[in-house]
Amino acid sequence: MHALSAHFVNCLERERLAEEFGEARTRGRNLSRLRRLTVPERTALEQRETQARARLMEHDTQHRCQP
Ligand SMILES: [Zn+2]
Repeated sequence: MHALSAHFVNCLERERLAEEFGEARTRGRNLSRLRRLTVPERTALEQRETQARARLMEHDTQHRCQP
């Protein structure tokens, strides 16, 4: 059995949350590169990113699936 792949499928829920967080960050970065964002837009994007990160951290605390 491959150690790396075993770690990779360690926790699908965490993977999903990490992906969500990554997407929120990427989306915000891409949008702000395309045009100047309004304050509410930027706030919403930041909130989204903060919430995604909080969910990921909460998962790590509660689930303890990370080594
Ligand atoms: Zn987990």
